[in-house]
Amino acid sequence: MVVLDPGHGGADAGVTGSYGAAEKDVTLALALEVKRQLGVLYDIRLTRESDRGLSVVRRTELANSFHGDLMLSLHSGGGLSRDANRIALFVQREKRGRVLAPKGEDGWDTGHRPYIAESQALAAVMKRSLSTLDGYEGVGYSGVPLKVATGARMPMVLVEVGNLTNPREEGRLENPEHLRRVSAAVAAGIEAFLSR
Ligand SMILES: [Zn+2]
Repeated sequence: MVVLDPGHGGADAGVTGSYGAAEKDVTLALALEVKRQLGVLYDIRLTRESDRGLSVVRRTELANSFHGDLMLSLHSGGGLSRDANRIALFVQREKRGRVLAPKGEDGWDTGHRPYIAESQALAAVMKRSLSTLDGYEGVGYSGVPLKVATGARMPMVLVEVGNLTNPREEGRLENPEHLRRVSAAVAAGIEAFLSR
């Protein structure tokens, strides 16, 4: 079971490009295309299949209820400048001692802690696969406090596919052909991870 989480949705549009493309629509189109490409091989579930809002906690709860083997949260965020266009991967940061827990939910991330090493392995495989795409400055990878991974009982990586604030990239992400290529790279990464 592969869980795809299209970032944002509903009232939360995410980043909006200068020609008006909304991140919430790009992430959903991407998730649906990855599902279309990989659905013959794997069971794929999306945290949302339409334009609706979902809290970050609910996304993680859904992924756990689906018993995912992995979870990818898809985004296409903003860059520091209009020219910036990076792919960035984020995994939950490893921390000594007490793990990041939302206030009032003591020790909650003991749920994801055992999966952090696998999340890093998933990120490494995704990085290799996404590095094959043209037109990006590279694929960044970092460990950060990652709310959507908190409590996830599976390997989990957040993927920022390019910067919607770059007008050229905004045009590309609106182009079905480019979307198919990006989705194919994401799909290849998932397949490589699951068939290790
Ligand atoms: Zn986002």
